[in-house]
Amino acid sequence: MSHKVTLIPGDGIGPEVTQATVRILEATGVKFEWETYAVGTDAYEKYGEYIPKEVIESIERTRVALKGPVTTPVGGGFPSINVALRKKFDLYANFRPIRNLPHIPTRYPDVDLIIVRENTEGLYSGLEHEVVPGVVESLKVMTEKACTRIAKFAFEYARKNQRKKIHAIHKANIMKLSDGLFLRCARNVAKDYPEITYGEHIVDNTCMQLVMNPYQYDMLVMENLYGDILSDLCAAFVGGLGFVPSANLGDNCAIFEAVHGSAPDIAGKNIANPTALLRSALLMVRHLGEHDASTQIRNALERKSDRTVPLEFFRDILDEHLPEEEAQRQIETVLNWGRYAEIFTYDSASDRLLLDEPSGNASSPERIPLH
Ligand code: NAD
Repeated sequence: MSHKVTLIPGDGIGPEVTQATVRILEATGVKFEWETYAVGTDAYEKYGEYIPKEVIESIERTRVALKGPVTTPVGGGFPSINVALRKKFDLYANFRPIRNLPHIPTRYPDVDLIIVRENTEGLYSGLEHEVVPGVVESLKVMTEKACTRIAKFAFEYARKNQRKKIHAIHKANIMKLSDGLFLRCARNVAKDYPEITYGEHIVDNTCMQLVMNPYQYDMLVMENLYGDILSDLCAAFVGGLGFVPSANLGDNCAIFEAVHGSAPDIAGKNIANPTALLRSALLMVRHLGEHDASTQIRNALERKSDRTVPLEFFRDILDEHLPEEEAQRQIETVLNWGRYAEIFTYDSASDRLLLDEPSGNASSPERIPLH
């Protein structure tokens, strides 16, 4: 069976990581029919719309999208395409698992945290205005409906996946009404899940607690802005933004994208790490019911496959063949996981890695399998 999926490569590093991800997805043998569209500035230049109606129609049809990051101008310009898509399709739950990969060294090994971010309201309401010159208001909108359904989403996930603990993260000491409502809803929902320990932490303290000891948490549920900020903080536990996936889930459709943005500082250099989007695609493949393919990709990411090459192997080869500084640079690229299949080729006759600029010459020697 072939799956129709809307594909939005995005901009900045988006097309690079999307291309790598699609290549890996297709190598699993699962058949996809990609409906590919531009959004944001690229779309505006072509169609005069930031989100062309064809994109909306495609997602309505396929009900599943894989999306690269899209740049949002800072302090002016058009509103976020990412937020607009989440709202348009009422993708209220942003699910962000934070897990180490066994071969990527980090300060904290074996982190296994889940962030559930409310995705449709809070300070992302987009309601801002100037009251008088020099005074602006930005409205934080919270509704009982959205607070309750995000808490339910988190507790249901915990129940189905044997998670033990959920903390609601808030600032209800200051935002007594809005975050107060969030807490009231979370407490109400928690009553129906007595097997799951429920706790509450204030967001600033949570940042410190996380950095001191991330293992004290299991699942965190929170409103939009706190979820955005804490996701980036937690990404650092597992190697950085290049490793953290997300799923934007609603009742009718889902959009899978990495937590990171368009990374203009590294765009076009082919050093962006596609793992975050690949892990997002892994969530998508599971959502599509392709469990063999999802296991295949997960094993490759965790280097459980016989054919993958351990990091130490790279390190030895590089140290042997390169000046120290260059070896270090290349190791960092490998650590970043990024595009190593484009940088090295594997000579199966000598069982050695050969340094190689991307040449498109895949005939000989054999390319290191990415899957
Ligand atoms: P960013 O996530 O793009 O980059 C932050 C840092 O992480 C940068 O140093 C970047 O080089 C690094 N990084 C990010 N992804 C990486 C990857 N895959 N591999 C290696 N390094 C990676 O955040 P930013 O710089 O604050 O935002 C840039 C643009 O992206 C902004 O316009 C922002 O609005 C947009 N954005 C979009 C999304 C989305 O599309 N969902 C999410 C966040 C930010």
